[in-house]
Amino acid sequence: MSKVKVCKTCGVPKRVGRGHLWNADGTMVQRQDHDHRMILFDSDGIDDLFKNIESLIGIPIENIVIESKARATEAYIAHLVKGPKGALARLIGIERVITTIVEQGRLLGYGDIRVTEFSWADAFMYCEITDPYSLPLFCGDLRGALQAIRKLEGQITYEEIGPNKYRIKDFQADDVTAFENRLLPASLPRKPGDIAYHRCPGCNAPLEISGFAWDFDKGTITQKGSGIRYAVFGSAGMQVVLDELEKELGDTIPATIVEAQRMHAAKTMNPRWKDVGQSDIRNWLAVQGLGNLVKLEQKDSGYDVLVQNPAIPLLLVGTMAALFEFITDKKAAVEWSVADDGDLSVSVTEA
Ligand SMILES: [Zn+2]
Repeated sequence: MSKVKVCKTCGVPKRVGRGHLWNADGTMVQRQDHDHRMILFDSDGIDDLFKNIESLIGIPIENIVIESKARATEAYIAHLVKGPKGALARLIGIERVITTIVEQGRLLGYGDIRVTEFSWADAFMYCEITDPYSLPLFCGDLRGALQAIRKLEGQITYEEIGPNKYRIKDFQADDVTAFENRLLPASLPRKPGDIAYHRCPGCNAPLEISGFAWDFDKGTITQKGSGIRYAVFGSAGMQVVLDELEKELGDTIPATIVEAQRMHAAKTMNPRWKDVGQSDIRNWLAVQGLGNLVKLEQKDSGYDVLVQNPAIPLLLVGTMAALFEFITDKKAAVEWSVADDGDLSVSVTEA
């Protein structure tokens, strides 16, 4: 992976630092596609979150996660390769496209990914991944990418072949029918904000991004100091997964997701959060592309919080509950609502 170019000033890979825009409204988007929101998110937490949800509801959710992530990735890739770009993809060859997706995944922290066998004619692909950012989300990504190109329902199986190393087979079921491209849910118009970042003069990425270490061989992004693993991925894809869990499993799921994230976030709290101010929290949320914290008001036994343009709101709520408990040493009770315009209101109080 020596060909990865990094910014000489801050050390962040150019395809990350220059390939994304950090906006004053608390969002992070792809430079090539300003509607495609990305987040830099604690990926240690993702599979932990899914495991916590399973333990809380007592039902396996892996298939729902893989299937819904596949649809989200498929919709996104289909959008990317439509029109002239689709013709280009056919011209440069499907294998090149797959390789590009894999290389990009390595850069975004998805793990050490290798395609070991691929046959377009027989419609299958084998790949191996060590330390995936999330095994079910990665399986969904892989299945969705091939579904977008073939426009046929795919299937995924995997086996563990070493410590946190998996061999994944992506193939076409026998009796599948073709489908029209599916769409991601339309994103809400974003509200303007006034967040000012301290930016790298070399690549314009917020300087906090240089607080992460990239390992291109392992395909990992690690927060220096805490050692927490992060990954860069589309927030809509994650939201689709959470929405599908709710649709399939019922309306107690949002509270379960909040609790599952609280359980995870409680494990990652850093003593430095004990004495940070509102502007630090606001800035840190925005650097991760999670939204614009416009209000954090102390009240009798807790806080009222308002976040505009929130990404994956339920995970924000769970994290806020964990933060409250960490700072006050008291059990948190949270109430939240997401308005039609997307604003997330949260009330955190002592339980
Ligand atoms: Zn830079």
